[in-house]
Amino acid sequence: MAALRVLELYSGIGGMHCGLTESGAAAKVVAAVDVNTIANEVYKYNFPNAPLLPKSIEGITLQELDSLSFDMILMSPPCQPFTRIGLQGDVTDPRAKSFLHVLEVLPRLQKTPKYILLENVKGFESSEARDNLIRMLRTCGYHFQEFLLSPTCLGIPNSRLRYFLLAKLQTEPFAFQTTNKILEAFPSTNESELEHSDPPIEGTSQPDTDQSAISRPGGPETGILYKMETSEELQRKQTQDNDPNMQTLEDFLEEDTEDISQYLLPPKSLLRYALILDIVKPTCRRSTCFTKGYGHYVEGTGSVLQGAADVEISSAYKSLETLSDEEKLAKLSTLRLRYFTPREIANLHGFPTRFGFPEKITTKQRYRLLGNSLNVHVVAKLISILLQSH
Ligand code: SAH
Repeated sequence: MAALRVLELYSGIGGMHCGLTESGAAAKVVAAVDVNTIANEVYKYNFPNAPLLPKSIEGITLQELDSLSFDMILMSPPCQPFTRIGLQGDVTDPRAKSFLHVLEVLPRLQKTPKYILLENVKGFESSEARDNLIRMLRTCGYHFQEFLLSPTCLGIPNSRLRYFLLAKLQTEPFAFQTTNKILEAFPSTNESELEHSDPPIEGTSQPDTDQSAISRPGGPETGILYKMETSEELQRKQTQDNDPNMQTLEDFLEEDTEDISQYLLPPKSLLRYALILDIVKPTCRRSTCFTKGYGHYVEGTGSVLQGAADVEISSAYKSLETLSDEEKLAKLSTLRLRYFTPREIANLHGFPTRFGFPEKITTKQRYRLLGNSLNVHVVAKLISILLQSH
């Protein structure tokens, strides 16, 4: 069988490409497209043989696309228009322009691609851009399934709830019964290895967007715990940490990171943000969504790791408000709180060990790129499901 020809749009650092490889599909990326020069350097470093077009997607012509003669599109359109912190301009946002261009040229291609996988943030499902996408799919004769999935569905201790859509030309059957509802778990298919229909740990009722990682103070009725954390939040975290289906974070940590001290939270951040940090230990089975500001901004950008696992958090936080800054720091420092390293985040996102960054890419840039990327295992599984026919 000839290899499937794949077009990777908004390729970033190539999370989709890694997912495609992991799925084991007989496929090759015939073009990857992205405007970000730093992301492109990382992409080229890891996939030197994949043709990379460093340009804007709205600049790609129908002729260029036709000449690529692709069978599948993998794409993660920029998410800002759909996030709560973004402008919420939806299709009027200039950043949505390239996606509208894709929707406009797709029906005019000489050969309609058989398969489409799209990833986006939660919130996309109720956007106008999504409605345009669905309209185009119907017009072109696709059937499709929408999902809201987090890596926790696969036992990975990281929340990253994302919207996914699988679409297939109607001549190609899906291996599962599609539904108009948004699925919150992987569908069961005939292949037993793909079966995993356990309900996700976190439902959509528990929002997991970039902002929700912030613990909010509880009212007097819920009681404020040693941190600004409500008892419900604490209980949810404890339930996650006791879930035997979930891997522990230690499986994803680097064994010997040279100079781990560069990842310690600076005193200023400790003092300022102590009460809103989401602290996890290596034995925990959860972490919040890592976003592009991780390692730089503290609020709601992702969990931090307690390096001194034997110190009780409650003792480090006890009566903090009565202490001087110096005393506070002395107490908080006993926890040795540090950021997850970029490699550790890549591990949680399912990037293979051979995936790397060129040396000149700074730590801040790595966090940024990883924060925009996706979970490779989730994508790999979705691609397998997409390609299965019965
Ligand atoms: N899935 C990717 C990340 C996608 S983030 C990964 O695994 O890394 C969205 C990407 O779209 C960013 O890399 C951004 O540079 C790119 N992008 C945004 N607007 C674009 C446009 N108009 N043309 C080309 N690329 C664009």
